[in-house]
Amino acid sequence: MKTEVLGTKMFLAGEWISKEETIAVLNPQDNSFITNVPAASAEDMLFAIEQAKEGAQKAASMPVHQRISILNKAANYINENSEKYAETIALEGSKTILQARAEVNRCIQTLQISAEEARRIQGETIPFDQREGSEDRLGYYYRFPIGIIAAITPFNDPLNLVAHKVGPAIASGNAIIVKPATVTPLSALLLAEAFEAAGLPPKVISVITGHGGEIGDILITHPAIRMVSFTGGLETGERIAHKAGLKKISMELGSNSPVIILKDADLPDAVEATVSGAFYAVGQNCLGVQRVYIEQDIYDEFCSEFIARVGQYRVGDKMLETTDMGPMINEKEAIRVEKWVNEAVDKGATLLIGGKREGAFYSPTVLTDVPADCTIAQQEIFGPVVLLYPVDDFASAIEKSNDVDYGLQAGIFTRDIEKAFEAIEKMNVGGIMINDSSDYRIDGMPFGGVKGSGLGREGVKFAIQEMTEPKVVSFKLNYKKSM
Ligand code: NAP
Repeated sequence: MKTEVLGTKMFLAGEWISKEETIAVLNPQDNSFITNVPAASAEDMLFAIEQAKEGAQKAASMPVHQRISILNKAANYINENSEKYAETIALEGSKTILQARAEVNRCIQTLQISAEEARRIQGETIPFDQREGSEDRLGYYYRFPIGIIAAITPFNDPLNLVAHKVGPAIASGNAIIVKPATVTPLSALLLAEAFEAAGLPPKVISVITGHGGEIGDILITHPAIRMVSFTGGLETGERIAHKAGLKKISMELGSNSPVIILKDADLPDAVEATVSGAFYAVGQNCLGVQRVYIEQDIYDEFCSEFIARVGQYRVGDKMLETTDMGPMINEKEAIRVEKWVNEAVDKGATLLIGGKREGAFYSPTVLTDVPADCTIAQQEIFGPVVLLYPVDDFASAIEKSNDVDYGLQAGIFTRDIEKAFEAIEKMNVGGIMINDSSDYRIDGMPFGGVKGSGLGREGVKFAIQEMTEPKVVSFKLNYKKSM
């Protein structure tokens, strides 16, 4: 069965529902109208939660082979329709068509990994006889689904980051209600289409479109929701964590990731990876490179090669395969980035390249000499701007890298294995890439941050751990008494 979602419908408990009140989805490139989606009301969200109670029972009772089959069928469906998925990501968001195709491939993998991990949700036997008096006990624990999961997702990877919640939820026998970002709801609706086509029982998944500020509280605070799995900004994450109450929370938040370039680095490699890490998806990437610390001896050479490479970037129509960088998600965001750059320049920073805005487009921008008290030196820029800093030595690079409120991932370029190991130990992050930028991830690795970058880990196997709870079983055996 194929449902046309580029219409006016959302997926509520197994039905495609339209509403009189709608939200326009716009192409950020030129503000052209793509389609409307329903503006869900509080009643819609309550209805979704009520229906999900039944969905959770169905999901939990699905045998593992059925979960595996549904996840693989959904992955195949996306594969067969991959260009439609890629065009939707590129149209509603700000990725180029090539980046959107890469995201579709990653989403297929995320679902395939979810299918594989479904068969590996295991428990252990428990040696109860470790305590005197428990010699007659035998037992084990296994993991069971927690029930209904609320998934709240951001705009920048509108398909794969939703799959990172939906895939593990279904693999582990949970129901899930997705509230996608208002500006990019279509990719999440297409994911629901794939699961409908794959035969997922109705009510196991709902994708509810609407403003987080209006319908978010109902979802977050409802006692039937056992876990809030959030990916988005720190401010929203903190607000949600305060309100959620007694339920599990998983927080995948932002960062302003550092990369260290030591003087023994392979320079061309370091330049290429760091430029790509800074400007991929217009810098709207939680792993994006924001701060680069370069050993003084190679600073001038690195800077000039870095700027030369940035100068080659082709900014323009995101639907063209020749484009490197499209628009930001909207003009408001581009204006924010412009303001932060201007503030830094007013305070004494040097603009090496870029700094120009046209509507939602902001040119790839490189700053140096940025004073520590600038917003851009501390906060997550989430835009196409990177800061270059010379450092005297390795120790100072580590200290400066850590001196922020975030800690998602980091990178270091060096051929010195001792320094690589020291960086691994001393950098306060959830992941460190040796001889690559911070912008590296596969979908099966544990992914998440420390400090303001979040709580908990995604990456299918690790999300499944968060979405399940252990149940202990103990048998008291009378025959053991007589032994
Ligand atoms: P955001 O503004 O925090 O929004 C994220 C989601 O939260 C959206 O669906 C939004 O809905 C919803 N929301 C907003 N207010 C809410 C409320 N009061 N209650 C419930 N939900 C609410 O983030 P964004 O601008 O979309 O995404 C960018 C951020 O995500 C960056 O900080 C980035 O680093 C982070 N991110 C982190 C990861 C990671 O895995 N660590 C990955 C990608 C992105 P509306 O759209 O309706 O407002």
